[in-house]
Amino acid sequence: MAKATASSDDAFARFKSYLREQRLKSTAQRDVIVEVFLEGSGHASVEELYGRVRKRNPRIGYATVYRTMKLLTECGIADERHFRNGEARYEIAEKEHHDHLICERCGKIVEFEEDRIEALQEQAARKLGFELRGHKMELYGICADCRRKKSRG
Ligand SMILES: [Zn+2]
Ligand SMILES: [Zn+2]
Repeated sequence: MAKATASSDDAFARFKSYLREQRLKSTAQRDVIVEVFLEGSGHASVEELYGRVRKRNPRIGYATVYRTMKLLTECGIADERHFRNGEARYEIAEKEHHDHLICERCGKIVEFEEDRIEALQEQAARKLGFELRGHKMELYGICADCRRKKSRG
């Protein structure tokens, strides 16, 4: 493995012990998939991960990537997201909380966090008697690059 950070070592260790619990074998193919996932910048679909995985080991099949991402989600290393009911996209689960802006034209996903919005959501929930445990906010629009392209064309 290239340069592994402490947290990716932790993720690997957790994945291995989850495989043991599930009585599944730890395989070199699974390792490559986990490596590729942890190196990525997030929000990748199985298709995209599969593309990157194949560059390292062309013998790894789509189904193996799909199943490994399910396992990573089950053991809490990956978060599965469905933006506007699109195909599943995966990001590393233990990142800081953040929300998403999604470009409807090119599909770019931008992460952001805005303290006032976070606080207002807490307030709104409390007003209705809820103790907030979490939320997912997705904002849809046209990104800066796409807007620039449009005005030029
Ligand atoms: Zn765009
Ligand atoms: Zn994200």
